[in-house]
Amino acid sequence: MIHFSHVTKTYEESWKALRDVTLRIRKGEFVFLTGHSGAGKSTLLKMIYMDERPDNVRGGQVLVRLGNDCVYDSKTSPENSIQGFRRKMGVVFQDFKLLPDRNVFDNVAFALRILGKRPKEINGAVFEALALVGISQKRFAMPYTLSGGEQQRVAIARAMVHNPYLLIADEPTGNLDPKNAEEVFAIFKEINARGTTVVMATHNPDFYLNSPFRRLELKQGELLNKEIL
Ligand code: ADP
Repeated sequence: MIHFSHVTKTYEESWKALRDVTLRIRKGEFVFLTGHSGAGKSTLLKMIYMDERPDNVRGGQVLVRLGNDCVYDSKTSPENSIQGFRRKMGVVFQDFKLLPDRNVFDNVAFALRILGKRPKEINGAVFEALALVGISQKRFAMPYTLSGGEQQRVAIARAMVHNPYLLIADEPTGNLDPKNAEEVFAIFKEINARGTTVVMATHNPDFYLNSPFRRLELKQGELLNKEIL
């Protein structure tokens, strides 16, 4: 579903944030992405959600399959096709990124309203997403009245409201206390158990040590666990 072939990303003249990264993530997998700060985790995730592309010259290629006839190709997909691809994936960040002037329901409904979906359809999808993360009772609350754990649940609901093929999370528990972190991690596992592919960058060894899920480890832009593809 996700295929990186010799991907290199240079932000500044000679500093390579990713170096010759080749990997494959299969449909339905749960994969951890680990490495020190600055190792390239966010850059690798941005390649998947199409916020960055590999270098033009000898930068390799990223392919992301999001359904039977929907494949993003970093070499050929035009910029104006990106929004369409993004609707088939959800992204969650460390700092939640909720709209501060809208309540929980409206934060989750926002993207569906922009797409012009019918109110009945929006209500159904939002209630389902809020139930998935266990926060339906707070649907009229404003973000600033919620704890960090609750805000992250809302952000996950917003990411899941389209029923995405793929959920990407960049340090989703980085701002949470251990109990909330564990609860949010449990939600990701549940989402994966229901069939969504999950790629999660994390610093928390409690999650990836003794876990059945695969771990991709980056060090200074290089993938340590190289696969022969
Ligand atoms: P991580 O998520 O593992 O902390 P990043 O992918 O954010 O790592 O960063 C990898 C390297 O690329 C770091 O050295 C960082 O300073 C650099 N970097 C990231 N984004 C940019 C940018 N937009 N411009 C310049 N350098 C960047």
